[in-house]
Amino acid sequence: MSSKASMRAVFFYGPDDLRLVQTPVPSAGPGEVVVKIKAALTCGTDFKAYRQGHPVLLARTPSPFGHEMAGTISEVGAGETTLREGQRVVVLNSAPCDCCFFCEQGTSELCDHLDLLNGAYAEYIGVPPHITRNNVHPLPEHLSFADAALAEPFACALHAVDKMRLQPGETIALIGAGNMSRLLICALKAGGARVLVLGRNSERLRLATAAGADEVIDLSEEPDGIAAVRRRTAGERGADGVIEAVGKRETWALSVGLARKGGRVCLFGGCAAGSKAEVDAHRIHYNEITLFGVFHHRPNHVRQAIELLSQGAMPPALLIDRQISLEEVVPFFAANREANALKAAVIM
Ligand SMILES: [Zn+2]
Ligand SMILES: [Zn+2]
Repeated sequence: MSSKASMRAVFFYGPDDLRLVQTPVPSAGPGEVVVKIKAALTCGTDFKAYRQGHPVLLARTPSPFGHEMAGTISEVGAGETTLREGQRVVVLNSAPCDCCFFCEQGTSELCDHLDLLNGAYAEYIGVPPHITRNNVHPLPEHLSFADAALAEPFACALHAVDKMRLQPGETIALIGAGNMSRLLICALKAGGARVLVLGRNSERLRLATAAGADEVIDLSEEPDGIAAVRRRTAGERGADGVIEAVGKRETWALSVGLARKGGRVCLFGGCAAGSKAEVDAHRIHYNEITLFGVFHHRPNHVRQAIELLSQGAMPPALLIDRQISLEEVVPFFAANREANALKAAVIM
């Protein structure tokens, strides 16, 4: 691949300013690969960044854009020995460095050097050495590129279930019925949970059922979520575990009330910087409720995600509802600025 060749790529210039531009095709330096992207998925995080900018993901502008992708390796840099040209792979948007304090503790999602990779809405992407080494994963032949690109968000869901130390047969109350919730439902069902989903949007609750939720609770009909969950658990004890997947103060407060004595509450939804939530401190102490946050994923969750996707544990149609071309990305973001739609697969 000549480094002088050019390609089309979507760049983020600022809020509400995406542009499809011509830019040089990257070349693979030592320990790197270049991937010809075959499918990229739009993500809620991208829409949020499109509206507001993103201090971490898009620190410098113009920035390459998009972070869920799969494709084939088009160039292998010197010294890279495990990956080969032509291999079908999913490329993650980050990878741990393996040498900082947090990586050595086994909490690589907290790695001090988790430099994020953007640029999925492009014909090619250059993958830096740390991601090439840890987070470029070969795909089974029968898994399509678009379905494989779900590995990134699915790995986040599997990380939450892992951290919850789920036991088969436990009842988990999941607050929120958005795209991530469907991935959480599939991850929880794969772990043998009984899943109760709380939400307000009947169409999304219908999709939650399609994803495998055992029961859904429509809070617009049953506003007392705590009573609704208690009624649906043995001895009216409450849920063994709770996952908050909304990221709002009110739902953080609600999450503590849904757990049984000794229950665990996983705070999966991220709140805006500076947010303060009020929780029932009395309950946390006297009922021994454990609260914990969960963020991002580790490479083992990505491998697990690919495995489960290839077994059909997550029906992709529950998340990806349309295909668009690279030319359609910029107008698609402009037209769906406020939408909380399903994901689009950008097919290259
Ligand atoms: Zn994403
Ligand atoms: Zn690290």
